[in-house]
Amino acid sequence: MSRAAIRSDLELLTKSFVLEAKPKVGYIYLENSTDKYILNEINEIKVGDVQSLPVLVDEETSIYEVVVKMFLEDVGTIYVICEGFLSGVVSRKDLIKSLLGTTDLKKIPIGLIMNRMPNIIMTFPEEFILDAAKKIIEHEIDSLPVVEKIITNEKINYKVVGRISKTNITKVFVELVKIN
Ligand code: ADP
Repeated sequence: MSRAAIRSDLELLTKSFVLEAKPKVGYIYLENSTDKYILNEINEIKVGDVQSLPVLVDEETSIYEVVVKMFLEDVGTIYVICEGFLSGVVSRKDLIKSLLGTTDLKKIPIGLIMNRMPNIIMTFPEEFILDAAKKIIEHEIDSLPVVEKIITNEKINYKVVGRISKTNITKVFVELVKIN
């Protein structure tokens, strides 16, 4: 085997935390290398790598239609848009609450009961999943809309391009442990 090939193998093992390169000492074997590898991998994954498709409705959609959509799409949160941009969020409990107090579910638009911008917690495809996970925990919510910032005539709007939920983040952990 050539010297160059050995060097690149050592480099790979160092990057995977199996070995550590110590100046004047050489390479030493690291215990718990798998744990360190997983931690390092998690730190590098971005929202855009694991996001799923968002489920969107327009502000004018009736509460009744949103309930049906939530069942059909099997999601816990629906994002609401107005003229193509994010305007609100509605969760299972928001809908249950509205079912208790409203009789005309087919007439009342979702825009009347949703949580509205600018109070929506968002994430971006280039954000690290660890930071998105921190937002989910800090705000005690189940998911975040993944958005892209669009500036038109000095007005900032957000286009919804994805969804990241507790399930997406849990899957990342399971996949990483499976690989190792
Ligand atoms: P549930 O209400 O079904 O338990 P959540 O915990 O996700 O679901 O939502 C709790 C509350 O926070 C709801 O009123 C919901 O509209 C709101 N919410 C959910 N996601 C967000 C978000 N990304 N930004 C702001 N508010 C949100």
